[in-house]
Amino acid sequence: MFDSLSDRLGKIFSGLTGRGALSEADVSAALREVRRALIEADVSLEVVKAFTEQVGARAIGAEVTRSVKPGQQVVKIVHDELVAVLGEEANPISLNAAAPVPILMVGLQGSGKTTTTGKIAKRLKDKQGKKVLLASLDTRRPAAMEQLQTLGAQIGVDTLEIIAGQSAVDIAKRALNSARTGGYDVVMLDTAGRTHIDEELMEETAQIKAVSNPHEILLVADSLTGQDAVNLARSFDQRVDITGIVLTRVDGDGRGGAALSMRAATGKPIKLIGVGEKMDALEDFHPKRIADRILG
Ligand code: GDP
Repeated sequence: MFDSLSDRLGKIFSGLTGRGALSEADVSAALREVRRALIEADVSLEVVKAFTEQVGARAIGAEVTRSVKPGQQVVKIVHDELVAVLGEEANPISLNAAAPVPILMVGLQGSGKTTTTGKIAKRLKDKQGKKVLLASLDTRRPAAMEQLQTLGAQIGVDTLEIIAGQSAVDIAKRALNSARTGGYDVVMLDTAGRTHIDEELMEETAQIKAVSNPHEILLVADSLTGQDAVNLARSFDQRVDITGIVLTRVDGDGRGGAALSMRAATGKPIKLIGVGEKMDALEDFHPKRIADRILG
């Protein structure tokens, strides 16, 4: 496989010892390697460009101390910048609103939206003792509604009764009413996905947002999306102003680039990561771990 970025930068700077500060020439050779490492990590090209410029600005003129090799120093700058872009702190799901707190789940079909809805509900129930109601708004795919119902039964969380023929907006209203009268703490709305972003999907999502006034709007995105991650995150964010991102299939992604791309494109935090198919395969997002992964 590839050398890690640390190894490659070590080689570039191997002839460089005891100089006072990193020169522009040293830094531009290093930035080529940084760029390559980011592209290999599947970070979108647009984000790679902005990010390397940022690192370059910090690296040129950086003092080279005797105790740290120049390569290590650049790696540290890159690492610090990655963590800064990815967000320093953990961002838990906020329930800081009047009950029942509506949480809207959005994303493309197959991204892991329904699975993630179940995982979050289970976590809220088990760890925070919350009473959660789940509702599927996928009117085009009855199988998706049944999938959520099965998941709910499996994790011991209630799901809204399925009534055929209702629109997504009507189901959202009914879910909120049921959550209110049933004394629920949280109501999670699992919206329909499509295989790609289209106007119909965005319009329906916007209408559901308007009637449900969600406290959190979480974009569920497959970490293997790679270069498409930026467009996906930006489209949803511009249209419905997401509050956070949940990255799925991080167990299958050795590279971590989608996290950086989506965060850089929207400024919205990555709140959680999915690391498997099981209902407890959900973890908090740790920017440092993803930064380590990207650096290799
Ligand atoms: P939806 O169409 O967006 O609702 O997607 P689903 O929730 O039905 O998930 C699609 C497939 O991805 C299912 O087989 C899930 O078990 C799987 N899946 C979801 N999240 C993860 C994850 O974090 N890791 C892995 N390995 N598989 C996942």
